Amino acid sequence: MIIDCHGHYTTAPKSLEDWRNRQVAALKDPASGPLVSELTISDDELRDSIVANQLKKMKERGSDLTIFSPRASFMAHHIGDFQTSSTWSAICNELIYRVTQLFPESFIGAAMLPQSPGVRPETVIPELERCIKEYGFVGVNLNPDPSGGHWKEPPLSDRWWYPVYEKLVELDIPAMVHVSTSCNSCFHTTGAHYLNADTTAFMQCLTSNLFKDFPTLKFIIPHGGGAVPYHWGRFRGIAQDMKLPPLKDHLLNNIFFDTCVYHQPGIDLLTKVIPVDNILFASEMIGAVRGIDPETGHPYDDTKRFIDGAQGLTESDRRKIFEGNSRRVFSRLDTILKSRGA
Ligand SMILES: [Zn+2]
Repeated sequence: MIIDCHGHYTTAPKSLEDWRNRQVAALKDPASGPLVSELTISDDELRDSIVANQLKKMKERGSDLTIFSPRASFMAHHIGDFQTSSTWSAICNELIYRVTQLFPESFIGAAMLPQSPGVRPETVIPELERCIKEYGFVGVNLNPDPSGGHWKEPPLSDRWWYPVYEKLVELDIPAMVHVSTSCNSCFHTTGAHYLNADTTAFMQCLTSNLFKDFPTLKFIIPHGGGAVPYHWGRFRGIAQDMKLPPLKDHLLNNIFFDTCVYHQPGIDLLTKVIPVDNILFASEMIGAVRGIDPETGHPYDDTKRFIDGAQGLTESDRRKIFEGNSRRVFSRLDTILKSRGA
């Protein structure tokens, strides 16, 4: 089985975006905004949006199951207040749930959280619990920067975030550390802000004792870990100067990296530097980079090809990256798959 741990519903019917635009347009007078009930999307519309896109590519490229969450750049936690995010998250998560009900063999949910700048993180817990317990989701996306590129919240190692971690640990749910749209013109959303955030999240964990306080907390740092694998020597050296344990002991029981790196040399480096047990297959397909690489003739986001082509991986390593590690990190997914006899 091949599990893609990082997919977003980037192809949702246009009426979703239209509803959001109306919500945003009414921010100054929410009473004039759209009702949730005004958004109607039929099962056929959902089916069409998946069959012609994600599901088609999954079949073509050979992946079986995608951990699927709302479109990351549309989370836009910086817009409005907690109530704005709360309503928007509930709508987006429900659509993901409906997709998982229409295609239970191919998609399983991960939640977007109703974060809002400056609002205490424990306010996301009711939506988090609803998604896990009622919708059967197996993960969440946690945004370390709800301000959208201005970094106004405390670092992920701060006690500010601890109530969320306590809930994640209680439910045995990993968090993918995933920012949303940049509203800081210095940072391109997918080209800079995402990768900055991946690197920043790793460094915030490195310079803290977060995983001493939460030994079973699990973070997935997406997009191949930003700059982390490439600069592994720098990070090891900084930890050493700080008299911290080796990174393997300090962080790698808790931090995992995905394979959303869109060329072979990048995957070769990732798999050479980071232990195989810490790498989870992912493509984030139909996402940030949708074109064909003229150097190879293949889509940039067809990442399975790079795992297949990575030198030095054994078949057992590939099984871990494609399936075993995701089942270990997303333990609720493993339970579901076992109940289906997989
Ligand atoms: Zn993503």
